[in-house]
Amino acid sequence: MHDLVITSRRVVLPDGERPAAVAVRDGGITGVHDPGAAPEAAERVDLGDVALLPGLVDTHVHVNEPGRTHWEGFATATRAAAAGGVTTIVDMPLNSLPPTVDPAALAAKRRAAAGRCAVDVGFWGGAVPGNLGRLRPLHEAGVRGFKCFLSPSGVEEFPPLDAAGLRAALAEAASFGGLVIVHAEAPELLTEPAGPAYPEFLASRPGEAERRAVELVIRLARETGARAHILHVSSALCLEPLARARRAGVGITAETCPHYLTLAAEQVPEGDTAFKCCPPIRSGENRDALWRGLADGVLDCVVSDHSPSAPDLKVPDFAAAWGGISSLQLGLAAVWTEASRRGHGLGDVVRWMARNPAALAGLDGKGAIAAGADADLVAFDPGASRTVDASSLHHRHPVTPYHGRTLRGVVRATWLRGRLAGGTPLGRLL
Ligand SMILES: [Zn+2]
Repeated sequence: MHDLVITSRRVVLPDGERPAAVAVRDGGITGVHDPGAAPEAAERVDLGDVALLPGLVDTHVHVNEPGRTHWEGFATATRAAAAGGVTTIVDMPLNSLPPTVDPAALAAKRRAAAGRCAVDVGFWGGAVPGNLGRLRPLHEAGVRGFKCFLSPSGVEEFPPLDAAGLRAALAEAASFGGLVIVHAEAPELLTEPAGPAYPEFLASRPGEAERRAVELVIRLARETGARAHILHVSSALCLEPLARARRAGVGITAETCPHYLTLAAEQVPEGDTAFKCCPPIRSGENRDALWRGLADGVLDCVVSDHSPSAPDLKVPDFAAAWGGISSLQLGLAAVWTEASRRGHGLGDVVRWMARNPAALAGLDGKGAIAAGADADLVAFDPGASRTVDASSLHHRHPVTPYHGRTLRGVVRATWLRGRLAGGTPLGRLL
């Protein structure tokens, strides 16, 4: 006897989309059956034309707890995740206090998260000047890899690495098969914004700064044999060097984010710093090129970079405001809205937002509907639409650039290991 069988005419499987029945026992998927041949189960759910997707894996979330829980915390972030069809998040090592740069800080994170999470949570460690000797202990304590910056991070307790520091971190990570994930903007090409308006902020962080940093990471990954990952690619100038490096067999992957794929600099409302993030949202033409990068497989993942702050830090001045976009609950619908318009299917979205991020973070049993995987599942109505009201989101603060936008695709239910997610905190720490 199974616990649950979910049937849909559109089950998104690793080899395509088809009518199927997914059988669940003890939190895991036991098999994928023809709809008429499903086993007996205590509970049966028929979704009809509503699609069944694997739970999304969002490997780029700043939860900020402990220390800046007034910006965002595990309870609020993971409820937002569940409501948005995300069943696993991987938390970034900075903006919390302490930052996750040694095993004691990781233990503090775990204590803060324990018992509060509506979805599963993994952790990235940080690579900062002076903590090279902590990378292996952090790896052994369970972090999925190490984040570093090449330019100032925005918080002084998480300083950037220079090229020598990056090389050392890559070499150290390579010695135990670890992964280094990089915020890639070359500091020497960044300037102070010349004024408070969006065009001046955008000009202060040119795409060339991203390209130069990406080229440095590629060169050092090649020299050290390490695995490296480029976070939040915003400039299409990065695509050509990334494609070339991959053809040459360098161990490098890359992600972009919903806001770079769905928003454009030309449309940023005056003074609306909900749109401020680093690197910045660029032109509509650049956005189209990022879509080609996804279609070509040069960009592997689409993850949120959910990075809230206290609302009072979002002053209406692009030079002074906190840089970070809140979208954890909205990423799936935002990306589907644009992906469907551009001729992509749900299978593409699942590859970018579930399967590839799970592989990046080494999360076996996540990101796919398959026998043996965790029963992390999402009922997603791809034809429905909803207008975003920031105040109705589960994020701690009602600040998001998607406020007032009508997005296509509505999450009807999310299951974590076969149980409805969002209420009782069922999440585990990975
Ligand atoms: Zn980030």
